Amino acid sequence: MEFDVIIIGGGFAGLAAGVALAEAGKRVCLLEQKPYLGGRARSFQGPTTGSIVDNGQHLFMGCYHSTIQFLKTIGTLDRVRFQTTLSVPFLDRDGRLTHLNCPALPSPWHLFLGVLRSGSFSLKQKLEVLRMGKALRNGGAGFGPSDAESVTAWLSRRGQSEGLQRNFWDLICIAAMNEDPRAASAKLFERVVRLALFSAPEDSRLGMARVGLSECYTAAAQSFIESRGGRVQVGRGVNQLLIKEGACRGVDAGGERIVDLPVIAALPWHQLATVLPGELLRGEPFFGGALALRPAPIISINLWFDAPITDLEFAGLRGTTIQWLFDRSRILGDKSHYISLVLSGAREHVSRSKEELLAISLRELGEMLPAARKAKLLHSLVIKERFATFSPSPEADALRPPARTPIHGLFLAGDWTATGLPATIEGAVQSGYAAAREFLGMQ
Ligand SMILES: Cc1cc2nc3c(=O)[nH]c(=O)nc-3n(C[C@H](O)[C@H](O)[C@H](O)COP(=O)(O)OP(=O)(O)OC[C@H]3O[C@@H](n4cnc5c(N)ncnc54)[C@H](O)[C@@H]3O)c2cc1C
Repeated sequence: MEFDVIIIGGGFAGLAAGVALAEAGKRVCLLEQKPYLGGRARSFQGPTTGSIVDNGQHLFMGCYHSTIQFLKTIGTLDRVRFQTTLSVPFLDRDGRLTHLNCPALPSPWHLFLGVLRSGSFSLKQKLEVLRMGKALRNGGAGFGPSDAESVTAWLSRRGQSEGLQRNFWDLICIAAMNEDPRAASAKLFERVVRLALFSAPEDSRLGMARVGLSECYTAAAQSFIESRGGRVQVGRGVNQLLIKEGACRGVDAGGERIVDLPVIAALPWHQLATVLPGELLRGEPFFGGALALRPAPIISINLWFDAPITDLEFAGLRGTTIQWLFDRSRILGDKSHYISLVLSGAREHVSRSKEELLAISLRELGEMLPAARKAKLLHSLVIKERFATFSPSPEADALRPPARTPIHGLFLAGDWTATGLPATIEGAVQSGYAAAREFLGMQ
């Protein structure tokens, strides 16, 4: 079969690149080493419970414009349900429940009014949020973070109290950037806050897949590509890129060479090195940044009870080790009493044993939710994603390469490339689109 381009990697980035190129009339050969598509955003059927389990609960946002476009193109946007306006329940460790409900007003009034009406903040904290929001809109000398500043340092410099940081800004930072605010880049955080909270009110809405994450996009993207003359192969890893005299000439996939084709490498940063020839790794500074990016883990604790433990579909948790609670039975619409808990930016917890993580979760759930003390735990599944994302430290930005490489016919995609966003679905899709544009520009 004749192809126009090889794509390595079947996550959001590789599939978005493949769909964009198929739409432009190109015949795509996509190779994925795992026996399934989806990469770090996938689902599977739990062997004991039969429930559809995501490798970690993913949140979409209204500001994921490229992702929304991608899902629309492959016909699955209706599998993600978005809120009508931003609404977040917060559950404190002592069980106190408050809400941040933002009305349908133009930005920033949706957020300002939401915060003013919310029981989640003291009056002093509400005024701090308003001050921060006003400054974000107006800018002004010395407002913006410096290149080296952490989120905590910047928020403190902007007069945001420790309590407000802990109970609000830190939750946003850890959820959106998967990093401890003391280590995360304030520059990137500022961009995220502007995009997610201070653009249009529709952009602030949260979205959740109503089906398993894989079902949202993998099969639909594969058939989009294949119905336009392409081929998606799983269980077919690339061993090495074939690079000669400054040009990429194809790949070696399991001993078989696929030659005379340009390549989009949509691999995670830590796997790119495994396919690059050694002399390029040592001699071409362009690729050095990828090697210097550090990982940041996410832990998901999946629990099946014999009875419901909450009426909430999801909640941000405050004052606890676990950070988010999702009632998967409500989200998926089944009766399994299945709860998924998320612990992001989990570097200091990832070495804990699964038993220890389970004990912490059950203790904290019991403190917050009386029904959790009575319900019987039937089954549990702890998933540690040690390489969930790259760590968005202040140094990381300069290490992220663009889609176009100095090697002719080789392009990069992936959430870790220079998207200007943290490692998210939206970053991955944007990177795939950017690589596709660069490829088409080369033609
Ligand atoms: C637990 C968890 C929770 C998350 N929560 C959120 C969230 O709430 N919201 C959000 O927006 N984002 C979230 N993310 C981040 C999001 O999942 C990622 O940013 C996104 O999935 C990355 O997509 P990608 O295509 O860049 O990389 P990947 O999904 O890693 O895809 C790369 C693919 O390349 C394949 N591959 C590697 N080497 C080879 C080879 N040699 N040959 C062939 N194939 C190869 C891999 O198997 C993989 O399938 C979360 C991530 C995790 C892990």
